[in-house]
Amino acid sequence: MPSPWSVEKQEQLRELAKDQSLSNGHIADLLGMTRNAVAGKLYRWKIFRSRPVDPNKPKKPRKPKNFFAELGVCKTPGLPVDPTLLPPTEPAREYAVSLMDLRHKHCRYPVEDNMFCGSKRVRGAYCDYHAERCYQPPRPPRYV
Ligand SMILES: [Zn+2]
Repeated sequence: MPSPWSVEKQEQLRELAKDQSLSNGHIADLLGMTRNAVAGKLYRWKIFRSRPVDPNKPKKPRKPKNFFAELGVCKTPGLPVDPTLLPPTEPAREYAVSLMDLRHKHCRYPVEDNMFCGSKRVRGAYCDYHAERCYQPPRPPRYV
């Protein structure tokens, strides 16, 4: 099958590719080829063209970055954050209790030698922070 790219078409393509205002689709229309054929030929010749830019086109406004939105805590930028949705903070070590002082209400996460967290138990045997670290949500069942 003969190549659809005749020598004349290739010369025309080289000339048209120099004009940065023409898109590959526009060049393809002028040559009677497809946009992909033009793009492929230019790629094989290692002629890389920048995308035509319309100076009159208004720029798209950028979204402000929101740290809490990235965390999934607050979807709307600028709104106050619900503190109950924030991840729990690590309890202070000053609440640490020894094994002998450990009571039912205390978190049982070991923090140092023979010392336990000692914060208020919230979920299972742990405080919020340590429960978050120790308990993983159940995985969905895998069907083979
Ligand atoms: Zn704890």
